[in-house]
Amino acid sequence: MIIDSHTHIREGNDDISAFLKGMDEAGVDMSIVSPIAPVTLGFHDNTYVAGLVRQYPDRIIGYCSVHPADANALDELRRSVEDYRLKGLKLHPPIQNFSMLDPRLGPIIEACIGYDIPILVHTGPVYSRESRMVFSNSVDIDELAIQYPRAKFIIAHGHPFGIDPVMVAKHENVYMDTTSTTSEYLTMFPQLASMLYEWMRGDGKILFGSDANQNHPERFASDLKPLRAMDIPQESKEKLFSGNIKSLLHMA
Ligand SMILES: [Zn+2]
Repeated sequence: MIIDSHTHIREGNDDISAFLKGMDEAGVDMSIVSPIAPVTLGFHDNTYVAGLVRQYPDRIIGYCSVHPADANALDELRRSVEDYRLKGLKLHPPIQNFSMLDPRLGPIIEACIGYDIPILVHTGPVYSRESRMVFSNSVDIDELAIQYPRAKFIIAHGHPFGIDPVMVAKHENVYMDTTSTTSEYLTMFPQLASMLYEWMRGDGKILFGSDANQNHPERFASDLKPLRAMDIPQESKEKLFSGNIKSLLHMA
């Protein structure tokens, strides 16, 4: 089974057939779709994602998004988890324009601990000029993991050569996904794959992701390809492709 832990479908797309076709062609069984609550407060795609989950319960798992500056963020989180059955929280600090260390995040993280849902945090590159990369430094997750030892943080776009594997090794509550970054480096340096995977340390904490969306459904296959080719035990691949995210989300 393959679960893609990191994908997007933006509101306004009633026809997601290209997305589903991309999944089928790549052999992806289920995708986790994350919205991003923009800086414009009071607007989010959570209801839209909930609708997708209702429509495609066998193919799509949804995460929600809130903005820490939104006075109703906790209400929206509650609605997303309790009513919409969304399974995690996505934060995108550089696009949403806040620091991971913003104290307004505190109550939101505490609520995620209460619901036992993971927090997927964008780290690393952002290509839109107005996005603030000062807020995408993954080392801030080290601080969060210390402050909130019971919260579960996923470093999105974990960098296999950087400091991210160290945080995965250091903290029981830090995971990383392979989205774009790991797949790109494995494509460049396939001969390093097994060594790199070992260096990434967290055999039980690395999640496959592709950042596929309805405009880029080919990412399912292209991100999977170098991971599938890795010379690592089958058991490790099963964890990477579905086992780890299933235990994180308490899926049977
Ligand atoms: Zn993404």
